[in-house]
Amino acid sequence: MMKGSFVYQMLPARVVFGRGTIAALPAEAERLGLRRLLVLSTPEQVGLAERVRKFLGDRAAGIFGLATIHTPIEVTKQALELVAAERIDGVVSAGGGSATGLGKAIALRTDLPQIVLPTTYAGSEMTPILGETQDRRKTTQRSPKIQPEVVIYDVDLTLTLAPLMSALSAFNALAHAVEALYAPDSNPIVEMMAEDGVRAIVAALPKVLKEPTNPEARASLLYGAWLCACCLGVTTMGLHHKLCHTLGGLFDLPHAQTHAIVLPYALAHNAPMVPEAMTRLCRAIGSDDAAGALLRLGHDCGIPLALRDIGMPHDGIAYAIEQALTNPYANPRPIEVGPLSNLLERAWAGAGL
Ligand code: NAD
Repeated sequence: MMKGSFVYQMLPARVVFGRGTIAALPAEAERLGLRRLLVLSTPEQVGLAERVRKFLGDRAAGIFGLATIHTPIEVTKQALELVAAERIDGVVSAGGGSATGLGKAIALRTDLPQIVLPTTYAGSEMTPILGETQDRRKTTQRSPKIQPEVVIYDVDLTLTLAPLMSALSAFNALAHAVEALYAPDSNPIVEMMAEDGVRAIVAALPKVLKEPTNPEARASLLYGAWLCACCLGVTTMGLHHKLCHTLGGLFDLPHAQTHAIVLPYALAHNAPMVPEAMTRLCRAIGSDDAAGALLRLGHDCGIPLALRDIGMPHDGIAYAIEQALTNPYANPRPIEVGPLSNLLERAWAGAGL
């Protein structure tokens, strides 16, 4: 394609952003004509699900509080039984990527409309992407059915996210923007969103860590995460996401932690091939060394700095390289054993860039 040519596919989500926006739930359900909603959450956030039920009033037909990270298919099957038994006509996913993943898995199989109330910065709510696990294998697919119809960002719901989890989740969001900037299907809108998303997150994160209940700082962080999520929804991710996906699935590594550790290394690895993306990232971060600045930010946030610290065995490096070589994917730097091995060895040991 000629330099400067692009395709931009907008995704059809309605977004309501602000403080106290949970109160918009009944009106949003009414807009979609929904009368029997199932509220989804993880076991840790059933209290939030109860609040959601109160806001919905007699439009709430039940709560399913067993959403689980990486969307295991057995859990989805259980939820689908309730969907059928209660004649559910839509779902409200309240929580992070785990609750949203369950709502998406139900929608994929039933085409029911979804309303999402995100409470982390993972960004799943803005994408038509679903990763599911069965027998410890994670598979990912895209479908318009997976894309949620309405996303209600309520800043107040993020105030309870613990500081370390907030930082980890924010790095997950940063990874979407970083890889969107050098994606083969990036475009001018994505570049603007990615740059502003990174700028907002890098500025807000230290403030959130100092004052986790400061609504202005939380609003900026959530705004940045939303922009990064929009980028994820419309572009093809590269080496960083593929590595995190492979490692997470194989060794059951925690999702956000894996992203946070790998991101500076993956970025440093690709940097020589993507000067325009690096210019934007450096401008957004306010440093002439974007990867180094992200590594330092992670350190300052108290994020674990080595894959070995979150349970990855050393022999996993060889397996991850084999996977990367046998399943080719879009990445600006060709996948070669030497440099990839160097990246993984350093990320495994937390050796620095
Ligand atoms: P999560 O949803 O599992 O949340 C982590 C924990 O924090 C859970 O126990 C949750 O209940 C709790 N929590 C969430 N928000 C809270 C809050 N505000 N206050 C207190 N506790 C809170 O984790 P996550 O990182 O948001 O999501 C990870 C999952 O999302 C993975 O399965 C990942 O694959 C998926 N994901 C999918 C996409 C996509 O586009 N398909 C994008 C990003 C992540």
